[in-house]
Amino acid sequence: MGESSGGGVLPTPESTSIEVMAHLKAGKCTTVELIGHYLRVLETTGRDLGAAVEVHSDSALAAAQESDARRASGKPLGKLEGVPFTAKMNISTAEGTTDAASGMLRGFKANEDSTAVARLRAEGAILVGKSNCDEFAMGASNESSHHGVVHNPWDRDRVPGGSSGGAAALAGSFGWAFHLGSDTGGSIRQPAAFCGATGLKPTWGRVSRRGLVAFGSSLDQIGPLTRDARDAQLVLSVMEGGDPLDATSQDFDSVKTPTETSAETISMKRIGLVSEGLTDAIDPEIRQRALEVTEQLKNMGHEVVEVSLSTLSKANACYQVIATAEASSNLARFDGIHTGQRVESEDLEELYSKSRRQGFGAEVRRRIMLGTFVLSSGYIDAYYGKAQQVRHEIRQEILSALDTVDSLMMPVSPFAPFKIGERVSDPLALYACDILTVTANLAGVPAVAIPCGFDSGGLPIGLQWMGKHGDDHRLLDLATSLQDQDDAWRGLPPGGSQ
Ligand code: GLN
Repeated sequence: MGESSGGGVLPTPESTSIEVMAHLKAGKCTTVELIGHYLRVLETTGRDLGAAVEVHSDSALAAAQESDARRASGKPLGKLEGVPFTAKMNISTAEGTTDAASGMLRGFKANEDSTAVARLRAEGAILVGKSNCDEFAMGASNESSHHGVVHNPWDRDRVPGGSSGGAAALAGSFGWAFHLGSDTGGSIRQPAAFCGATGLKPTWGRVSRRGLVAFGSSLDQIGPLTRDARDAQLVLSVMEGGDPLDATSQDFDSVKTPTETSAETISMKRIGLVSEGLTDAIDPEIRQRALEVTEQLKNMGHEVVEVSLSTLSKANACYQVIATAEASSNLARFDGIHTGQRVESEDLEELYSKSRRQGFGAEVRRRIMLGTFVLSSGYIDAYYGKAQQVRHEIRQEILSALDTVDSLMMPVSPFAPFKIGERVSDPLALYACDILTVTANLAGVPAVAIPCGFDSGGLPIGLQWMGKHGDDHRLLDLATSLQDQDDAWRGLPPGGSQ
C-alpha cells in the first residue's frame, strides 16, 4: 500500500502510469492528492538529483482539480487522465521556460505547447515540470547543461547518461509519471539504460517535431521514458501521427491500445542478435547479459539468430558528420539578433561572435565548428557527401537484415554508467557512448531500450531492439512480453523498488 495523503491512499512508488490511472478510477485517491504528492517528489528527489529543473505546481494542481471535477461530473475522461508527466528542457511548453539547457536561451519562454505535449494534455495528462538535459541535447552524460549535472539514482557519483539525463533519472527513481525525451543519436535509450527505465525512439516522422528545439533534424525524434513498455505504448499512441505543422511527420500503422493482459501471441518471433554488439569493445558483463536474455527469449518461443551488421563500425563517424552538419545549420539562428542572448557591441560581427561565444557552452561550440567545417566548400564532398553515402549503406544493411528477422537486438551502451567527471574532458570518450545507438537514428527505424537486470556493481543494464519503419508498437509488444517475465526488466532491483 502506498502512503496516505489527505483522505486517499496513494499508489506505491513503483506503480506505472497505467496502474496509477486504475488507482484513480477506483477512487483510492484524488488527482489533486496524486499530483500534489508527485510535485513534492519533484521538489525533493527530482531537484536533489539535478533532474527536475522546473516544477510547475500551480498549473499542475489547477489541471488536477479540473480532472477531479471531470471525473466527478461523469464527463468523458482522457486516455491519460490524471497522469503526471515532464518534458525535457528542449521541448516547448506553454508554461515555464524552454532553454534547451543552454545559456543562449536563458529564460526563453515558448509560450506554446509542442504538438506532442498538446496531444498528451488533450488526453488528460498533467504537465508537472521540465527535466534537465545536455545543452541542446548534445551529450551522453548530462554534464553540459547550464542547469548543472544530473546524478544517477542508482549511484549518485555516476552520470545518468544523456542527453535526456533528467528524464531518465526521474523515470528510474520513482514511478507514476512518464517523461518526454528526445533522441538524435541515443539520447532516450542510453540514459534509460543507465537509469533502469524503458525508452523508445520512435520511427523518424512518427511523432511531430513541432516545438522541439532542433539539433539534427533528419535524426531527431521525441519519445517517452517510462516505467515499462505498456506505458510507452500508451503514451506513443496519444502522441503519434501526422501533424500539419511538421511536414516530415506522418501516420503509420493502426494505433494500438495496450491492455492490462500480457501479449497472447508471440510478437517478433525471429530476433537477430547483432554480433557487432558482442565484441570485446563491449563490457563483458553487458555481453553476458545479452546472451542470457537470448536464452530467455528462446525459452519464450522466439527464434534467435546471429546477424552481422558490418556497417556498425562506420555508424558513429557517419553520425558525427551528419549530426554536427545539421546542428551547425540549425543553431545558426542563435545570433543574438533574431534569437538568443545578446552581448552588445557597436560592431555587428563582434556582436555575433561575442553573443555566440558566451551563449553556447564548449561542446556546442565544438559541434558547430565541426559541422561548419564538414559543410564548407572544398570539404563538403569529402565529409558530408561521403557521410550521406555511408548513411545510405547503413540504412540498406539494416533494412535487408530486417527482411530476414523481425527485430535486431543488441546492448544500448558499451559500458556501465561511469563516474561524473570521468569522461567530460575527453570528447572522443563521450562520443564512444553512442556506438550502438546512432544506427537506429541514421536508418530512421524505431528502437526500444529496456532494463535487463543489473551488473555486479548493482548498476542497470539495458538492451535494445530495432524494428522496421513503423514497427514501434510491435517492438513495444515484444518489450512488454519480456517485462512480464521478470521484474528486473522493469528496472526494479532484486529487493524491491528504491
Ligand atoms: N550522445 C549523442 C550525442 O552526443 C546523442 C545525442 C542525442 O541523441 N540528442 O550527440
